[in-house]
Amino acid sequence: MRIHNLGFPRIGGKRELKIALERYWHGESTQESFLASCAAIREDNWQIQALAGIDLLPVGDFSHYDHVLTTSLMLGVVPNRFSQSLSSLDLEFQIARGKSTSSCGCAASDMTKWFDTNYHYLVPELSEDQCFNVDASHLLAQIAQAQKGGHEVKPILLGPVTYLYLSKNNEKNLPHLPALMVAYNNIINQIAATGVDWLQIDEPILALELEENWQQALIAAYNAIKPGRIKLMLASYFGSVEHHLDLIRTLPIDGIHIDTVVESIDVSNVLNLLPNEWVISLGIIDGRNVWKSNLASLYQWLNPFYQDYKERLWLAPSCSLLHSPVDLSAEQELNFQIRQWLAFAKQKCEELALLKTALVSQNISELVRYSKPVIERFASNLSKNAWVEKRVSDLPDQDYYRSTTFNNRKRLQQEKLGLPAYPTTTIGSFPQTKHLRKLRSDWRQGKVDDKHYQFSIYSEIKQAIHVQEEIGLDVLVHGEAERNDMVEYFGEQLEGVTFTRFGWVQSYGSRCVKPPIIYGDVARKKPMTIQWLSYAQSLTDKPVKAMLTGPITILSWSFVREDKARSLVATQIALAIADEVADLERAGLNIIQIDEPAIREAMPLKHSQWQDYFDWATRCFRLTVAKAKDSTQIHTHMCYSEFNEIMPAITCLDADVITIETSRSNMALLDAFEKQHYPNDIGPGVYDIHSPNVPSIQWIKSLIEKAEGYIEKENLWINPDCGLKTRQWHETKLALKNMVEAAKQLRVTC
Ligand code: GLN
Ligand code: ZN
Repeated sequence: MRIHNLGFPRIGGKRELKIALERYWHGESTQESFLASCAAIREDNWQIQALAGIDLLPVGDFSHYDHVLTTSLMLGVVPNRFSQSLSSLDLEFQIARGKSTSSCGCAASDMTKWFDTNYHYLVPELSEDQCFNVDASHLLAQIAQAQKGGHEVKPILLGPVTYLYLSKNNEKNLPHLPALMVAYNNIINQIAATGVDWLQIDEPILALELEENWQQALIAAYNAIKPGRIKLMLASYFGSVEHHLDLIRTLPIDGIHIDTVVESIDVSNVLNLLPNEWVISLGIIDGRNVWKSNLASLYQWLNPFYQDYKERLWLAPSCSLLHSPVDLSAEQELNFQIRQWLAFAKQKCEELALLKTALVSQNISELVRYSKPVIERFASNLSKNAWVEKRVSDLPDQDYYRSTTFNNRKRLQQEKLGLPAYPTTTIGSFPQTKHLRKLRSDWRQGKVDDKHYQFSIYSEIKQAIHVQEEIGLDVLVHGEAERNDMVEYFGEQLEGVTFTRFGWVQSYGSRCVKPPIIYGDVARKKPMTIQWLSYAQSLTDKPVKAMLTGPITILSWSFVREDKARSLVATQIALAIADEVADLERAGLNIIQIDEPAIREAMPLKHSQWQDYFDWATRCFRLTVAKAKDSTQIHTHMCYSEFNEIMPAITCLDADVITIETSRSNMALLDAFEKQHYPNDIGPGVYDIHSPNVPSIQWIKSLIEKAEGYIEKENLWINPDCGLKTRQWHETKLALKNMVEAAKQLRVTC
């Protein structure tokens, strides 16, 4: 039996990759020293895995920026707009980040979520007459580096069909498959020449419910592969592949890796259906979560398979450990008991080794000792809150619905708020200046005290209210100066949630996030936002819109306990947020926004599971606001550009106002709202906050007029397309002034 890994976090335990990238981008280091830092991270990673006892180490899991982009470069897929005269490294960063002058037309490639994770990849752009010019030199150099270090390695390639599936206009690119396979065979030949035994090819799309043409593409692709002497391990992850077994079993491969963690899957059934001679790799350690495994129970489950398969059984994490923090031993400040429940990437490798040793020696005693905290965890008082459990189980159905229709609410809200036509507002955050970030970091390090910190936040709020009054906005916000991050801020204050110091996970390129860890029943300890918001409202006669993060977004951007259903954890979070809504109303806030940017990305990979997800996700959202007074106006905000498939769910949220991103699509995506008769108010973003450009009054007016082609005037709000936290104050003021002026001019003519 062998244990192997599908990938190790490439950012490094101390975010070495981030530091190296930023130094290089800022001109503070040379290409050579950047590449040397990368080589050092790879060597460290192999050392960690080898010391843990992994037999076959991954190569090809490392990338300077993103592994899909690395694949594009290896295949020579570079959009024409990028200058070919750049060094390969600078070309790579230009595709990833664009060029800073907005006039040159070298926009970065689109970035989007890697399946249902919070990692983002760069979308490949293939041209109609795409040629593939293979350059596998980076991968070959990495294989050589590992071999020189004495490691036994297994190179990894992103599979050809998943690669095409992830590309822009993917269906159109299917005819490129034969040429792409020539390129893959070329790469595979070069890999075979390095003397490695196994090659892993990843086809995570097998977890999806694929249309016929993509299934045919998989068959064609793998029948076109000429592996020579090298053995092929086809890897799937992020979902069960039982629905595609008939297809998979016909492929000319030597082994398969399946994820047994993410969905319940009948492994013996799968094994019975697969060819007898294949190596079977079972992904048994959750690669996307932070919990220690119950190795003793895994042993009991795996031992019969081991007896049957012996050398043909391999074990691995469910997927690449890219999605897991690096090393738990760095977390010295974590609650001792909670720490015993966790395993990060390094520890997950060690878990595999423990399991292997136990299976080979048929001795479970070490595993029993190891698993003790896991068993204690589920019985621990720390993770249980009887009051929360009872509250969830006693929820009456009416708690999910507001007490009257949108039209009735709208009348009552209008009586209270007295807003003009085309009401103007913003999405919540104002610029997070250097000064503000320094203040927060000083406060966290104890360099300034709580009093000073609070006083400074109050003055930021005062300033934000003052600016908005001067500009003449109708619905004001407090500016979110107290928030580092919209999920972290709430997570830090909730019971049942904890934080790490170094538990970074790559989000894209140099950007890392530190997801909260939900380990227990979630409850609100005390009000979380009232002090800031009631202060903001006390400063003005205009309505202040309070900002909260919704339950699905908090859930999706956290590591979630796996002993309870996600829908249940989300319900607990929803109740905590509902408590905050009630307190905000009591504090005199008449408008409350619940941000749910993650509601779309949290959709399951399999279409057949969507409806069930929509049902519980929308119920959780409604639970946060259902008890609000009819006269309290509930807003929600989402920032993405694909609404068609989730329109029914959006309608079900029954928010009084939804603000969305539309400016970059020139209002085109309002099509979905019109076609599906969205009944409530909408604020389509009228300018792109991602760009420093100040939109002109005329430009904004023309966009609003376009929006009127889809939405009744009475339902239209005017706002930017997202929060302003990444912008500068001066450009923000100018842009908002123009936005308010555009609304005023339209009011005169209407
Ligand atoms: N209220 C948040 C902000 O303005 C919304 C952020 C988001 O849409 N992701 O920053
Ligand atoms: Zn947004």
